[in-house]
Amino acid sequence: MALMGDYHTHTVYSHGKGSIEHNVLCAIRRGLKEVAITDHGFNHVTYGVRRRKIGRMRAELTMLAVKYPQVRALLGVEANILDTRGHIDVRESDKPCLDIIVCGYHKFVATSSFAAPLTYFLPNNLGASSAKVRVRNTEAYIKALEHNEIDILSHPGNFCKCDIREVARACKHFGTYFELNGKRILISDDELAAAAEEGCAFILDSDAHRPRDVGDVRTALATAERVGIPKESIANYNRLPTFKRMRREDARG
Ligand SMILES: [Zn+2]
Ligand SMILES: [Zn+2]
Repeated sequence: MALMGDYHTHTVYSHGKGSIEHNVLCAIRRGLKEVAITDHGFNHVTYGVRRRKIGRMRAELTMLAVKYPQVRALLGVEANILDTRGHIDVRESDKPCLDIIVCGYHKFVATSSFAAPLTYFLPNNLGASSAKVRVRNTEAYIKALEHNEIDILSHPGNFCKCDIREVARACKHFGTYFELNGKRILISDDELAAAAEEGCAFILDSDAHRPRDVGDVRTALATAERVGIPKESIANYNRLPTFKRMRREDARG
């Protein structure tokens, strides 16, 4: 046992290289029990998944569940934080179609209003007044977590200066997993250690854009080990995580 599921993978429906089936096959080869298809959110300017494709993606997953019963494939999205007021690009009407919601900060996203800070279109690390940018980004993360049922916060702090300790505290408070991203972690070991001190639950994801990278979390795991994050606080290591909708359904019995 080790990694049990990978909950952040891309396909050709956004700017990944492979099909949903390719990702599922790679997950099986890696011995995973679960894999989530989480293409880029609808407001991403260049490669957001089209809303009208979600039905077809669900149909593919239903077919693959019969063909490959050994792995459970979930349909999600990697949503975008749109502003500092808690808006993300998942609508109420999208939610019944999705098993999980991954959400993160990305550059080049159409924001929710023209009044939104221009920096949400631009690399956030280039602000003339970086202390202000840091405060604003931290607020954007916390408000997004507060106002939406986000299961996983993807790559916190990547290309988005913020107070990681505050963000991790909000993840713990709102029951959102703090992602250890397999592609890159751009925050420092000290920042990650601060997140761990806050007691949030972590999740290892590949963020694969090619099928062969599904389940490859080696660099994220190495970082976790270096920082001293206990394995017990990683939700998909030697066990399966529970996501918000599943918790609700369990509570209903
Ligand atoms: Zn991302
Ligand atoms: Zn991604």
